[in-house]
Amino acid sequence: MSERGLLIVFSGPSGVGKGTVRKAIFESKGHDFEYSVSMTTRQKRPGEVDGVDYYFRTREEFEAMIEAGEMLEYAEYVGNYYGTPLNYVNKTLDSGKDVFLEIEVQGAGQVKEKAPDGVFIFLTPPDLNELRERIVGRGTDSPEVIDERMRVAQDEIEMMALYDYAVVNDEVPLAVKRVKDIIASEHFRVERVIGKYRKMLTDFNNQEKI
Ligand code: 5GP
Repeated sequence: MSERGLLIVFSGPSGVGKGTVRKAIFESKGHDFEYSVSMTTRQKRPGEVDGVDYYFRTREEFEAMIEAGEMLEYAEYVGNYYGTPLNYVNKTLDSGKDVFLEIEVQGAGQVKEKAPDGVFIFLTPPDLNELRERIVGRGTDSPEVIDERMRVAQDEIEMMALYDYAVVNDEVPLAVKRVKDIIASEHFRVERVIGKYRKMLTDFNNQEKI
């Protein structure tokens, strides 16, 4: 049986560019992990595709998934539900592949409780003014939603302490490289591989006795 994959939790404040960095990571060469498509009740933005960008669902459908215990985590964020369906994550990890979640910080906190051995990566803005400009520049939110996103973002930055790594998003290609380097290194951590080597020693010694 193959080893269980690594759960990678990529998070950070609203507007920091998580989605952009995540897409650039998945478009880049030399990565070997699967993206977990999230479920949301928010409206589809122009160009978004159901099942690719998100699974777009009604509140009733989403709440039924929560009731059935089918979400790894979920959060209500600026008036909408966002969450990670559990089944895909478990199936993929069990098959030995790494799974990459791109989620906001409340959800990341829930994953930390359920799966503390995940790799928790926090994407930070170079500064708060630039963060505001990015949210405004996206042109998809009303002024009220922008103010709320900025308020939420400041609380979110305080949650960095929960994470293993902080990566600054000054330039997307640099942020992409940092995240990929972190994930590659995580595979070599002694605590992740020691079980395999212990088994190797046991198997070797048993074989000697035969
Ligand atoms: P947006 O509406 O801009 O696509 O996403 C809003 C926020 O929800 C972003 O911070 C995004 O990372 C987060 N998000 C997307 N999918 C999930 C999810 O499955 N769970 C949680 N907790 N947050 C998510």
